[in-house]
Amino acid sequence: MDKISQDLERAVAATVPDRAIFDYLIVGAGFAGSVLAERLANELGMRVLIVDKRPHIGGNAYDRYDDHGVLIHPYGPHIFHTNSEDIFEYLSKFTQWRPYQHRVLASVDGQLVPMPINLDTINKLYGLNLTSFEVEKFFESVAEKKDEIKTSEDVVVNKVGRELYNKFFRGYTRKQWALDPSELDASVTARVPTRTNRDDRYFADKFQAMPLHGYTRMFEKMLAHPNIKIMVNTDYREIVDIIPFRHMIYTGPVDAFFDNKYGKLPYRSLRFEHVNVPKEQFQAVGTVNYPNDYAYTRISEFKHITGQEHASTSVVYEYPCAEGDPYYPVPRPENAELYRKYEAEAENTPNVTFVGRLATYKYYNMDQVVGQALATFRKLQASHEAGRGLGSAALAAPVTA
Ligand code: FAD
Ligand code: UDP
Repeated sequence: MDKISQDLERAVAATVPDRAIFDYLIVGAGFAGSVLAERLANELGMRVLIVDKRPHIGGNAYDRYDDHGVLIHPYGPHIFHTNSEDIFEYLSKFTQWRPYQHRVLASVDGQLVPMPINLDTINKLYGLNLTSFEVEKFFESVAEKKDEIKTSEDVVVNKVGRELYNKFFRGYTRKQWALDPSELDASVTARVPTRTNRDDRYFADKFQAMPLHGYTRMFEKMLAHPNIKIMVNTDYREIVDIIPFRHMIYTGPVDAFFDNKYGKLPYRSLRFEHVNVPKEQFQAVGTVNYPNDYAYTRISEFKHITGQEHASTSVVYEYPCAEGDPYYPVPRPENAELYRKYEAEAENTPNVTFVGRLATYKYYNMDQVVGQALATFRKLQASHEAGRGLGSAALAAPVTA
C-alpha cells in the first residue's frame, strides 16, 4: 500500500471531532496547493481551507500590475512550458493561452549571443561561418570526455569543453548557487541543452505558452468554488490549533514543518530588483544572462513574455543570495541525504501529505509541480473511492504541529 493510502487508512481509525468543518487544510496557495484544492473541491466535493502566509494566491507564479500598469512577476520571470498534453489540458480549463517561445541572450566577451549555445552562438563568438555538421565536429574537438557524468561541471565540459564552460556556465553557476558547478548535481546545468542547429528557443517543449490574462487570474479561476475558502496573510501555525480539519496538505519547506530538527535544508534565495524604464523596449529578448559580469545573473523584461503593449517597460534584475525566501532547493548529494531524513519523517506523519517544490525538495518547474499535484490527487481519490477516505469522518484528526 502506498503512503497516502496508509495515511488515510490510519486516519480512518483516528478520532475525528464532530466540529471539523474542513476536510482539508492546504498550506500554500501556489501550484501544488491550488491544483489540489481545485481537484478535491470539484471532483470530490471536499471542503477545503487554503492558507498562505503571503498576501496573495499563486505562490511564486503570482503576477500583478505594477504602479506603472505593466504586468510583472514579482518573484521572477515565469514561463510556462511542458511536454505533457494532460497537464496543458488541465490548466486550459482555467485560462486561455498566448503562444510564447522564450528567447535568451548571454552577454559574453562584449557580445550578446544566443543561449542555449547553438550554431549562431559559436559563429558569432568566434567570427566563424560553420555549418551544423562543422560545429558538431568543433564540439567534439574541444569536449573533455568524461567516463561518468556526475556533476554540473561534467555535463558541460563533456559536451562543449572548458573554454565555453568558463564563458557561459562557471561564473553564472557560482553566482547563482555560491557553489562551483563541480559541487552541484549534473541535473542543474543539464537543464540547459547544447544545440548544433540555429534553434534559439530557451525551451524545446511541445507546449509553450503564457496564461492570456496572467497567472493570478488563472489561480483565481482554479480556486473559485463555494467549497474553497482562502485565507492569505496567514501562517498555518496561527490557525492550525483553532480551525478544525481532517487532513493537511503541506506545500511549504519540509524542514520548517519539522522545526528544522535535523538541521536546515539549504535553499538558495534571490533578491529581485524591479525597475520601470520610461521607454517602450529595454532589451531585444525576454531575458539577457550575465554569466561573468555584475552581481546579478539575468535581467528579464516582462512585456516580451506577457505580450502586453505599454509606453513604458518593466524589468527585473535577479541577485542570488543566501538569506531570504527559499526559492531553490540545492541539488547535491549531502542535501539529498539530509532531505531523506525529512522524507522519512514525512512518511511517518500520517495526517499530512507533502507536495510541491519546497515540501519535496525538488528543483521542479511549474508543470512538474502540477503533474505531482495531479498524481497526489489521484491517490487521494482512490483512497476516498475505496471507502477509506469517504465521508466526513474518514480522514485524519487535526494535527497539533
Ligand atoms: P510555491 O509557489 O513556492 O508555493 C508555496 C506556498 O506556500 C508559498 O506561496 C508560501 O508563501 C506558502 N507557505 C510556505 N510556508 C507557509 C506557512 N508556514 N504557512 C502558510 N503558507 C506557507 N517554473 C517554470 O515552469 N518556468 C519558469 O520560467 C520558472 N521560473 C522561475 C523563476 C524563479 C526566480 C523561481 C524561484 C522559480 C521559477 N519556476 C519556474 C519554478 C516555479 O516557481 C515552481 O515550480 C512553482 O511555483 C512551485 O509551486 P509550489 O506550489 O510547489 O510552491
Ligand atoms: N546556467 C548557466 N548559465 C546560463 C544559464 C544557466 O550556468 O546562462 C546554469 C546555472 O547553474 C543555472 C542552471 O544552469 O542555475 C539552470 O538554468 P535555468 O535557466 O534553468 O535556471 P532557472 O530558470 O531555474 O533559474
